[in-house]
Amino acid sequence: MAISSRAAQAKSSVDVVTTFLARIRALADDPGTLDLTFGNPHEMALPGFTAAVRAQVEPQSVDWFGYKASERTAQEAVAAGLSAELGLPFEPEDIAMTQGAFGAILLALALLTDAADEVVIPVPGWFCYEPMLHAVNLVPVRAALNPVTFDLDLDAIAGAITPHTRIVIVNSPANPTGRVYAKETWHALADVLERASQTHGRRIWLLSDEPYRRIRFDGVDFASPAAVYPWTVIDYSYGKVLLTPGQRLGYLALSPLIPTEEREELRDALMPLGLAIGWGFPDAVMQYSVPALEVLTIDLAELTRKRDRLYGALTDAGLEVTRPEGTFYLWGRAPGGDAVAFCDELAERGVYVMPGTLFDQPQHFRISLTATMDMIEAALPHLLDVIAARRG
Ligand code: PLP
Repeated sequence: MAISSRAAQAKSSVDVVTTFLARIRALADDPGTLDLTFGNPHEMALPGFTAAVRAQVEPQSVDWFGYKASERTAQEAVAAGLSAELGLPFEPEDIAMTQGAFGAILLALALLTDAADEVVIPVPGWFCYEPMLHAVNLVPVRAALNPVTFDLDLDAIAGAITPHTRIVIVNSPANPTGRVYAKETWHALADVLERASQTHGRRIWLLSDEPYRRIRFDGVDFASPAAVYPWTVIDYSYGKVLLTPGQRLGYLALSPLIPTEEREELRDALMPLGLAIGWGFPDAVMQYSVPALEVLTIDLAELTRKRDRLYGALTDAGLEVTRPEGTFYLWGRAPGGDAVAFCDELAERGVYVMPGTLFDQPQHFRISLTATMDMIEAALPHLLDVIAARRG
């Protein structure tokens, strides 16, 4: 075998996603295709995004061409923004700039785990946690969410924890369900983690995966577990809130509540580990753009209109759909309970939605609201036809 068994395991745990991605890519050339699958943009980026990046493209000094670790101006802008948003006193030293949330998650794993440690992940949850954990020799342990509400199931998390657990990953607003968890949930989870850490004599860390933090509907409050459970690190990406996932920019933030000695030790490790994972810092242009990008957001009113249009039409048609409180995804139960058959039938009509098999949920499907309203309007008659036919 040419690749390592670890790499093979990582690859196989994401095969269902990459195979689906290849199929969708092959269709992208067909102008008639309505692609409502991945969270990709279907329109040009915000003018403010282009202006912010363009302003940094022209080299202003020789330093522009040098190696960039976390740029101080970027760290300062992030720390100020996060402090205002979460009501916690973040300092620039708590922030490591990364290649999106992907890079921040990898940095968190490098920072906090030993080989073969276990990491608890939510199911249904983002399909890249598992391959990422396999790729760095960690063991994913699944904890099912409540199958109806998709709330955290604290008993499931407690049951998934063993003496080898090092990290529990939580994701709010959550992909694919769109749920946003309230502060009470974090208090209850903190109790579970504190008890388990005491029982096993080993600190369990929380990785709060928050790339959708600024994408919320109806003024739903956001609470980060970083304000509740001190042993928390936050990963973030600008790729969601600006809908520019190809321009890699994000960060890992240490909770200011981490006890001082551990916080200092972690701060000192951020730069060397950012280097060790393959110089995981964003490119200079993206880092210089952070102060301008920090204050930009995609049009949430338009996103809300798209959510309401689709959610309303699908629930009127009798479908069980989770009304997203955040993210840009709509998560529903396929008519007839077979998501692959449902998605295949739609694909025959040129409408692509994501079967829940990518999330190990064969009865569900996910629609990305990053499609334009025109695409949604064009897809709806097909969706309604297929739903009616499959419901018999
Ligand atoms: N975490 C979750 C829950 C996601 O859905 C994604 C991307 O889809 C990421 C992390 C990675 O974000 P990025 O590609 O912006 O690094």
